[in-house]
Amino acid sequence: MKKILTALFIIVSCLTCCASVFAERAPLESVYGLPKDNVDYALDPNIDYLIVGYHQAIPKEHIRAAEARMVFQPNDVDRDMIGIENATFAAYMLLKSRLKADYGIEIGLYDAYRTPKDQQWLIDSGVATFRTGEVGFSEHHTGLLLDVVVSFTVFDQYAGEYRDYYYSEAAVRTFDDLPLEVTLEPFQVLDSLLADYGFIERFPEGKEGITGVPYTPGEIRFVGSPEVAHAIMDNELTLEEYVAGR
Ligand SMILES: [Zn+2]
Repeated sequence: MKKILTALFIIVSCLTCCASVFAERAPLESVYGLPKDNVDYALDPNIDYLIVGYHQAIPKEHIRAAEARMVFQPNDVDRDMIGIENATFAAYMLLKSRLKADYGIEIGLYDAYRTPKDQQWLIDSGVATFRTGEVGFSEHHTGLLLDVVVSFTVFDQYAGEYRDYYYSEAAVRTFDDLPLEVTLEPFQVLDSLLADYGFIERFPEGKEGITGVPYTPGEIRFVGSPEVAHAIMDNELTLEEYVAGR
């Protein structure tokens, strides 16, 4: 039951990241222009950078272009197939390997790329009864936004043995009856390494008025290079602020 609750919470918390809940939107246009160099790291120099969500929907042609470069594989929580933009996936795998090798931390993916149909299904399914992301306005349509979870070995009292379960940071921050082994520490290590692999925390606390999205821990966004990611993370910026200030 706890696992189900936790899984549900992952879904619900993730839907909030896709919502445009606070105000009127700007016209339907994307913000482009993050640097496309740094190819030695970005792995795919043709990757496009864009902001989707509160401020603008993803253009249809971008969804088609995005689909062409997705890697598909089962997610780590319920084995549903998910797509991930291929350079994002390569960077994620480097981050995952580093965490495992140097810290013994096992991270997993819950969700990444979503088609407009996927988003509609999430809305129709009624899993989240608040702040559902509208079709076209979810940054998950890009394949660049990842919902990351961390594996903990916990004593499963129903099974009577230790088992590995994935938890989202949002779940750990919310539930106070989780097993003692489940702590925030691995998430803090994860956050400290994000920028080295070209990722940023996409919807940080205190920046809700800029992103238009409630604080959503565990929602990470690939921005193409460690340089760009550090420029954002080290200065406590959002992607919106970085793009506006370039
Ligand atoms: Zn999400």
